[in-house]
Amino acid sequence: MNTYAQSVLDQLKKRFPTQKEFLQAATEIIDSLSLVFDRHPEYEKAGILERFVEPERQINFRVTWIDDAGKVQVNTGYRVQYSSAIGPYKGGLRFHPSVNNSIMKFLGLEQILKNSLTGMPIGGAKGGSDFDPKGKSDNEVMRFCQAFMQELYRHIGPDTDVPAGDIGVGAREIGYLYGCYKKLANNNGCALTGRGVPYGGSLVRTEATGYGLIYFANEMLKTKNQSFEGKRAVISGSGNVAIYANEKATQLGAKVVAMSDSDGYIVDERGIDLDLIKKLKEVERKRISEYVKIYPNAVYKKGCKDIWTVKCDIALPCATQNELNLDSAKILVQNGCKCVAEGANMPTTLDAIKYFQDNGILFGPAKAANAGGVATSALEMAQSSQRMYWSFEEVDKELEHIMKNIFKMCDEAAKEYDCAGNYVIGANIAGFKRVAESMLAYGIY
Ligand code: NDP
Repeated sequence: MNTYAQSVLDQLKKRFPTQKEFLQAATEIIDSLSLVFDRHPEYEKAGILERFVEPERQINFRVTWIDDAGKVQVNTGYRVQYSSAIGPYKGGLRFHPSVNNSIMKFLGLEQILKNSLTGMPIGGAKGGSDFDPKGKSDNEVMRFCQAFMQELYRHIGPDTDVPAGDIGVGAREIGYLYGCYKKLANNNGCALTGRGVPYGGSLVRTEATGYGLIYFANEMLKTKNQSFEGKRAVISGSGNVAIYANEKATQLGAKVVAMSDSDGYIVDERGIDLDLIKKLKEVERKRISEYVKIYPNAVYKKGCKDIWTVKCDIALPCATQNELNLDSAKILVQNGCKCVAEGANMPTTLDAIKYFQDNGILFGPAKAANAGGVATSALEMAQSSQRMYWSFEEVDKELEHIMKNIFKMCDEAAKEYDCAGNYVIGANIAGFKRVAESMLAYGIY
């Protein structure tokens, strides 16, 4: 590794020894960028990497709310405003008990590069809380969202910081959060994306991350004269990203045979009934195990990891970080899988990524492959500014165009740095250079 890159990574390891997800993301990124610093000594001179890995601002706050039994509950709220080099901070909010500073920083760091790859003027951020919406009543979720926004509203705004959804934050939560924001801030601008269409949201935002993932994977497949037609796909998760990845993959001719939630996974050899999944997960908020009550020929297995033992041509991890490890990667390759594209953020461990690449598997990294969600959020911001709505077809066409362009940028950057086909390196370099050039232009501050 380039000595400058190595020294910055060593410093991070020394300063944040317990932030393992952050160090994992930083290691992957800095390892790829090493090649850039060999060619651009001006970045070292301006301390670009040290500044890039240090968030511009981190806000941790107390969120106090009252549950249905009348008991006072306390959670921690987070917003990491990582980089505004190329535009207002932008990145989702995650509500999940595992949320902590390390997870917020890894997601925020990834988000800078992802947002840069979209080619749109949006900086990088992430936020959320260790609150778990699972098992809570609608009223409890509403009270929590309002308590969370009572602090967050002063840090966000249409030209400052524009959060969106992520794990545990869907249409219901965004509605409560935005309703509270507009009241407290006395501002009806686009300070949150993923809003409902009646109150300023964009068509296709719900589908965007999943659809975008498939558009990106399709570009990878084309390089080998392949397509989704007739392929078997396995998709982990059954949330927003997984559901719409399934929908688009199926539209393009694939058969999705397995999906999961955090308790277990289902296998349906005839192809998963997506309408049933949508009903169970989006409407009734039930467990995926319910699927086999309707389809007794399908199989339910407890535990998530073994979903990767289901034979497939294309694997799409769409649940959470580090859900696909080296053992799973070996089984996928042994079973003939040819393409892996990340719908979730950092779902694949570093050694598993290396194994895929060493075995010639097409591998699409999250920051490129799942950028369709944030890109469509930027389209939502544009529509809000114009006071206009674009049609489903217009937004979908623009999304497809953006995903093809992201693929092209990754492909070209990888080739420029003599790593053709390595879209991890391509995505990191292409995303970073736009941010680094902007930082250079601003001088040191
Ligand atoms: P959802 O909350 O809609 O769905 C998450 C899914 O993953 C659920 O099926 C959930 O199961 C499962 N899951 C969550 N945590 C775990 C865990 N620790 N172990 C196993 N399964 C788990 O989230 P999204 O679909 O929005 O997000 C999924 C991934 O995609 C995340 O990594 C997110 O950061 C990323 N992403 C999302 C974008 C978006 O637009 N929504 C944009 C870009 C990236 P259960 O129902 O049991 O909790």
